[in-house]
Amino acid sequence: MMSDVQARIEELRDILNRLNYEYYVLDQPSVSDAEYDRYMQELLQLEGEHPEYMTEDSPTVRIGGRALDVFEKVTHKSPMLSLGNAFNEGDLRDFDRKVRQAAGEESVSYVCELKIDGLAVSLHYEKGRFLQGATRGDGVTGEDITQNLKTIKAIPLRLKEEVTLEARGEAYMPKKSLEKLNEEREKKGEMLFANPRNAAAGSLRQLDPKIAAQRNLSFFVYGLADLQERTIASHSKALDFLDELGFKTNTHRRICQSIEDVLAFVQEWQEKRPSLDYEIDGIVIKVDDYELQEQLGTTAKSPRWAIAYKFPAEEVVTRLVDIELNV
Ligand code: NAD
Repeated sequence: MMSDVQARIEELRDILNRLNYEYYVLDQPSVSDAEYDRYMQELLQLEGEHPEYMTEDSPTVRIGGRALDVFEKVTHKSPMLSLGNAFNEGDLRDFDRKVRQAAGEESVSYVCELKIDGLAVSLHYEKGRFLQGATRGDGVTGEDITQNLKTIKAIPLRLKEEVTLEARGEAYMPKKSLEKLNEEREKKGEMLFANPRNAAAGSLRQLDPKIAAQRNLSFFVYGLADLQERTIASHSKALDFLDELGFKTNTHRRICQSIEDVLAFVQEWQEKRPSLDYEIDGIVIKVDDYELQEQLGTTAKSPRWAIAYKFPAEEVVTRLVDIELNV
């Protein structure tokens, strides 16, 4: 007979598989990200306490997306992973401790970046020309959305040097574009997009590139996945190089030497977040040195050299206010 714990684990997997399908395939989530994260944390905890119930296809080890059949499929050269999550200072300090353990005597630098609320895209350039762009999909196989990506002006069609590389970044819909789009959809009686991530994903997974062109999307490059005929030693140097080539990187990034500096950056952007004209849902912290990144390696789902701190959900704040008002 199934124990209570085993039954709850099964139930959580069913819930998370359904929510993943709504979010990644239909681009129409039915619950908030905070609610999704709570289910995921509960499952992670139960699986941690009961490794005997662990399975290889659990949503805790699989990336939730899937490539739609209407697009050509693209197999990524190296997997497009997700990120481990941190929800509080303790989680960030734990991450720092593990990184420093691996680094031994060496000093550690982090690059702190804004976590843009859009969707991950990979871009291939051959001898400086944009050749192909794809979604993350399930991390191994994505969708070829090259024609739609070509409509985004922040994606250069030709680089300043004739280099062959793969860059990865976030396609996103600025706040103003989402407001305008939802206003138009409301007038037409169409479903509204729940968040900028789903709006951007929905726009890029249209068969007609004219629709993507009307959606005013933009793009920030956040990493270099492959570079031929040249070596770069760190993530921060890669971002500077991508800047020089004509990509748009996010300039609100900072190199931090200590976890205290990282925490200060997180605090600063939690406050300054409303001033941005695009949505962010957290801060991504990455080990700068590529050698140390390699040494730390990855799990099936995410790199051990990076972590995403998630801002507390605004929904929680509203609920607290509701409770206060009811008193
Ligand atoms: P994630 O969003 O937590 O983190 C990984 C992603 O961050 C990357 O793929 C990339 O697209 C993005 N990113 C943005 N800025 C970045 C930067 N500067 N550097 C690197 N990456 C950057 O992980 P995920 O697997 O894409 O999504 C999981 C999250 O999606 C959940 O935690 C939840 O919030 C949400 N979700 C919600 C539902 C729902 O039903 N509401 C369902 C599924 C997932």
